[in-house]
Amino acid sequence: MRSLCRLARTVLLASLPALLLSAPSGAQESDIARLVTALLSETAVVRDAQWLTDRIGGRPTGSAANLDAVAWALCTFEEAGVAASREAFTMPARWLEQSASARVHGDVEFPARVAAMPFSIATPAAGITARLVDGGRGSPADFERLGTAAQGAFVLVATDELADIPGLFQEYTQATAIEARAFERGVTGIIYMGSRPNNLLYRHNASRGPANRHPLVVMERDAATRAVRLLRAGATLSVTLHLTIETGAPYESFNVIGEIAGSAQPEEIVVIGAHLDSWDIGTGALDNGANVAMLIDIARQIRRLGLQPRRTIRFALWNGEEQGLVGSWKYVEQHRAELDRVVMASSYDIGTGRIAGFFTGGRPEIVGAVDRALAPVAGLGPFQQIDVPIVGTDNFDFMMEGIANLVANQESANYGPNYHARSDTFDKVKVDVRQLKLNAAIAAAVTWGFANMDVTWQRQTREEVERLVASTDLEAQMRSLGVWQDWAAGRRGRQP
Ligand SMILES: [Zn+2]
Repeated sequence: MRSLCRLARTVLLASLPALLLSAPSGAQESDIARLVTALLSETAVVRDAQWLTDRIGGRPTGSAANLDAVAWALCTFEEAGVAASREAFTMPARWLEQSASARVHGDVEFPARVAAMPFSIATPAAGITARLVDGGRGSPADFERLGTAAQGAFVLVATDELADIPGLFQEYTQATAIEARAFERGVTGIIYMGSRPNNLLYRHNASRGPANRHPLVVMERDAATRAVRLLRAGATLSVTLHLTIETGAPYESFNVIGEIAGSAQPEEIVVIGAHLDSWDIGTGALDNGANVAMLIDIARQIRRLGLQPRRTIRFALWNGEEQGLVGSWKYVEQHRAELDRVVMASSYDIGTGRIAGFFTGGRPEIVGAVDRALAPVAGLGPFQQIDVPIVGTDNFDFMMEGIANLVANQESANYGPNYHARSDTFDKVKVDVRQLKLNAAIAAAVTWGFANMDVTWQRQTREEVERLVASTDLEAQMRSLGVWQDWAAGRRGRQP
């Protein structure tokens, strides 16, 4: 789709203050200094983020927009002079919401806006009608109180208003347990009270992925709180839910992989990744268009300056991330023969908030290397590494394969409230362009550092990965994100 490449040159000039780069003392540091300066100057990063979000828009894997995004990424790399290719892999099942609506009726009748949760089942043309019951917070005591009343009903689960990223983690963790309790009681479906103010709708991930067999929705907060009040005042209510969802068999999707070959040790690889796909209620600007544009800009500036890393740098735009981290999972499977030579894989997936450091995956031997790599951009700190393993983005399968992995630990900024929501649009990135560019400098320093430094670590063995799982909260994280079974059954992770 060549036409996507012909982009209007937009003028952007954020006045960036002179940065505190440490004085270059050798050729390598000087390369980093040049790269940072280039990234902080006027570049196409904002143009790219805007094109991907405003023009292409929400791009769930399996949609036509997602294929447009793949084509766009290929030609944007090409325009930047970076060799890139698309790598096919198989997605397990197609799932795209086409329409969703609900009506509360009974003693009182009113419409309620809803969004289907990923992998919710569709309803028949006539919809699904069931009694609505007050599921409280979905706790064991709440289901105990409901007893047999939950059977065959839509259970309405109340939520706290989301404050920030820790609240998101809590939503994920609680949902797994709530869904298990509800399904055990034979509910017809679950209706979550939207946790965002102003009736903002969002696509909250369900815990069972494609294995789910129930209708699951998020209902706009004000309608859901009204229904809860009515139920608690003794009203009898039902809900009729209409969900039109395109579902289908396994299909082909694509990661887009840009590459700058190493000059001295080209067989050794440093991976920097961000996911290209998004959910489709908003346009995937903070999650994760901003970081896709940032990654491409780093590759672009390395090429423009003619810099040559010692190791090969792969710029990975993952697909299928929102639907089970599938693209990066399939990548490690397809590239198994070279995984011993992947020195480090990093992920950027928290919008435009300031990078405050990196999660280093429970690998103390990596921490010092990250510190060293960040030294040339110390003026953009302070940075603090947190040496714990993180599940929830595309570092996951690298970690389970024993590869040193980093996740940028970004300040929340406006990420939390807009997460997977209708409001995740380009304006949220635009207000933070300065930080996006500073993050590009930080990400470039880390990538460049790992591509050039001497390293002491190796890929972990299966036994070492198992020890990491046993000695951290990895199991709980994996369970709450629905990937534990894949590891336990040997479908993911380093083979013995
Ligand atoms: Zn994301």
